[in-house]
Amino acid sequence: MIDFGYKIQTDRQIDYDSNDRQILEFVRRGEPSIDWCMSCGTCASACTAAVTTEYSLRRLIILARRGMNREIVESVYRCRFCGKCFNACPRSVNTRNIVYLMQLAATKISNHEI
Ligand code: SF4
Ligand code: SF4
Repeated sequence: MIDFGYKIQTDRQIDYDSNDRQILEFVRRGEPSIDWCMSCGTCASACTAAVTTEYSLRRLIILARRGMNREIVESVYRCRFCGKCFNACPRSVNTRNIVYLMQLAATKISNHEI
């Protein structure tokens, strides 16, 4: 292949119509405070799991809004349920319950229950 000094990048646009937002809707029904999240990242900076892994609750919520469920399933089980994120959140989002419900939804999707 001829090297022109540039290349075409993979398309990174998010198609909200085709993405599956089952996890977001499941969490929303059980914990409406997920909609209060403003993606500030304070929870991620306080997170126990983030010390040793790539885990980020802020990212998980963004992924849920985008309907990127596969990426959620890959990391949602890393949470230690320590609750530090809940104490740190400036919007009083019930973070621990959100992670719990995301895990529940991910398990149900894997078992074809929802
Ligand atoms: S600290 Fe609260 S508002 Fe900020 S990203 Fe985390 S959950 Fe969202
Ligand atoms: S409860 Fe989970 S997401 Fe929250 S700080 Fe602890 S390990 Fe991180």
